[in-house]
Amino acid sequence: MKPNAPDAAIDRVAAEIERMGAKPHLSRGQFRTVIGAVGEEANIDQSHLAALDGVERVVPIMKPYKLASREFHEDDSVVEVGGKATAKVKIGGKHAVCIAGPCTVENEDMFYRIAREVRDRGAAMLRGGAFKPRTSPYSFQGLGEPALKWMRACGDELKMPICTEVMDTRQVELIEKYTDAFQIGARNMQNFDLLREVGKTQKPVILKRGLAATVKDWLLSAEYVLSQGNRSVVLCERGIKTFEDSIRYSLDITSVPVINEWSHLPVIVDPSHAAGRRDLVAAIAAAGMAAGAHGIIVEVHYCPSEAQCDGPQALLPDQFAEMMGQLKQIVRVFKREFASTM
Ligand code: PEP
Ligand code: MN
Repeated sequence: MKPNAPDAAIDRVAAEIERMGAKPHLSRGQFRTVIGAVGEEANIDQSHLAALDGVERVVPIMKPYKLASREFHEDDSVVEVGGKATAKVKIGGKHAVCIAGPCTVENEDMFYRIAREVRDRGAAMLRGGAFKPRTSPYSFQGLGEPALKWMRACGDELKMPICTEVMDTRQVELIEKYTDAFQIGARNMQNFDLLREVGKTQKPVILKRGLAATVKDWLLSAEYVLSQGNRSVVLCERGIKTFEDSIRYSLDITSVPVINEWSHLPVIVDPSHAAGRRDLVAAIAAAGMAAGAHGIIVEVHYCPSEAQCDGPQALLPDQFAEMMGQLKQIVRVFKREFASTM
């Protein structure tokens, strides 16, 4: 739309898009409003739209992901998490985030202890799994709803938003009640029904990259969430399968600037699952932030040898503190700042 196009003109264009059988998606930028028309191209009469009041031009977006593309939304999107019982944490643009916590919530005391430790050392959000996607059906699968209750209570007490993984459409309603943000795990990046289901909620979605997904596949998965009306998607690079076997997965550092070019969505990195080893976590996190990531999600445990899962990659609290000191210096170069709830 032309800069300062009146609301009546915007509403009229949206109504015309609907009449053509497509769905209008509004993106209000600093200077102008962009109206995305998502639907069958053949049914969209571009010259009719171009002739409507207030329309500046009609531009076909060639990328298969439309709402996730920079063409649709020129500025960086800033996703806001929490803000009711907790602090409101911003992710994207100039706002960086550190999400930290254990791989899985093992009991109430351990979660509170780790939460306080990471809060005191620079985390603004808490992570923890109540439902775990394990390679073996005989491995610990997570404690379910009791773990969600402990996380919620702890997040409220410390004023820190929480995120936790949802693995199945049947869990969305339950998890939505407790969490501030959904995490979609790497193994579920192409669980399209699940993407649609979280897309119908208004809770932010942290979407991990699949183990063998291209950046384009990943953005198309984000598109599933966006297409349902949920605009709050944070992408997370967590390492992909390569032939390299000295590490668990290879963190694709390059995907960060590629995402920043192709998409307006914030992107964070997960150095824990990529490395699989705590001694590599800080270096990989630093590389991700230096490549332009908007934050990290990282696993921390005070006694990794006793952890129910992913102990070898969990940072000790003091290692976490040292890493955060380094990351804070790196983000300053990019004129970004880590959110703090302290
Ligand atoms: C996790 O965050 O604990 C996890 C299982 O991550 P991913 O889906 O990236 O393997
Ligand atoms: Mn884990």
